[in-house]
Amino acid sequence: MNTPLIPVHDAVSRIIDAMPVMTGERVDLYQANGRILAEDMHALLTNPPADQSAMDGFAVSHHDLAETPVALRLIGESAAGHPWPHALASGTAIRISTGANLPDGADTIIIQENTQLATDPDNADPDNADQMSVVILDNGKPGRFIRRKGQDFYKGDVLVSAGTKLDGRMIGLLAAGGHHTLITRKKPVIVIGSTGSELIEPGQQPVDAAHPAQIMSSNTVMIANMVTDMGGHAITLPPIADQNDALETALSGITDADLLILTGGASVGRHDLVSARMKNRDTLNFWRIAMRPGKPMIFGQMDIASGLIPFLGLPGNPVSSGVCTLIFVRAAIDAMLGLSTGIMTRKAVLAATIPENDEREEYMRGMISHDAMIGQDIFTPLSSQDSGKLMDFAHANALMIRPAHAAVMNTGDLVDVIILK
Ligand code: AMP
Ligand code: MG
Repeated sequence: MNTPLIPVHDAVSRIIDAMPVMTGERVDLYQANGRILAEDMHALLTNPPADQSAMDGFAVSHHDLAETPVALRLIGESAAGHPWPHALASGTAIRISTGANLPDGADTIIIQENTQLATDPDNADPDNADQMSVVILDNGKPGRFIRRKGQDFYKGDVLVSAGTKLDGRMIGLLAAGGHHTLITRKKPVIVIGSTGSELIEPGQQPVDAAHPAQIMSSNTVMIANMVTDMGGHAITLPPIADQNDALETALSGITDADLLILTGGASVGRHDLVSARMKNRDTLNFWRIAMRPGKPMIFGQMDIASGLIPFLGLPGNPVSSGVCTLIFVRAAIDAMLGLSTGIMTRKAVLAATIPENDEREEYMRGMISHDAMIGQDIFTPLSSQDSGKLMDFAHANALMIRPAHAAVMNTGDLVDVIILK
């Protein structure tokens, strides 16, 4: 079967269209970081709940401050959580702290620094706080240092909208609005495995150190960690040998997966069992894309004992599988989380000459840095773009997207880059 290479954006939209949106699940605020909110969250209460002081000082009526300094009788205190229950009478002041309710009749806060405490000359007992007075040195300004009821938000206001990725600041806002749990999209379960008879797991030793032929399966752990960062729940499989029965055994053990990812065996070689299995079934959506690295990628549904599950077959080359994860696995996870963020790119100035391109869109590893003199980001591609060089991919901080059929590119051209990390 020779399907034509399909463009990257087509592959992305086919994947997005095929992925179901996850249902919601209720989580505690302490578990909500990084999760995607599944519904608009409205404030359950008003914040602040009443007019409150923004400073430590004294609550007074501005009428009493026509001439300053002026001594006002100190009749009580409004502390945070313990409001003064009476109204302010003319000629009096109430000590007030930050976050305490403004007493009825008060319209001005005089900060503590602009006052002096004194014993009320008409009342001789200095031990009795009720007989103290406060000398107001500054005539203040009505409304200053007062936080009005609802100035942050009112009951019923939308605090955070559905589809938002939650962080500590937003979770704090939701707590302020009276919530302690919320509904987020369930994390999609992503099962990840690598095929290849040469693969051993991190922690294992090659069997024949004198004639080394085995390599560490780095793809599984790399993709699992990337998937976790993307908001998925990663489940990993041990390496799968290039034998049909090994593949079937591994597949038969999968019971719960929203997406299955296998790397390796996706190409046209005689040991490429994954592509062979998919070609023989009618559940293939596409195979082989116009992308470098990543050409042999497969998308469809894997027919396993527990049913048909969305399936991505990624090339075994570590850089190819990593780049495909960044583009396609991210698209799949975003779609399952109900997000439509798309690939985030920005413009940078190219610092190299690149020959014209063929029909495969290329994701070139490189380094981006900010040039403060010209106020722009500069992208320098790495000299080798070999898809077996994991060292380069791991340390690159940007990928440049070189369009299919692009003409020669020169130093100074503006290019699209994806920022890594
Ligand atoms: P394949 O796509 O199976 O032809 O593999 C392409 C190349 O990637 C081969 O050199 C494999 O040894 C290598 N490779 C395949 N799977 C992995 C893996 N899980 N980790 C690291 N390298 C791999
Ligand atoms: Mg292989």
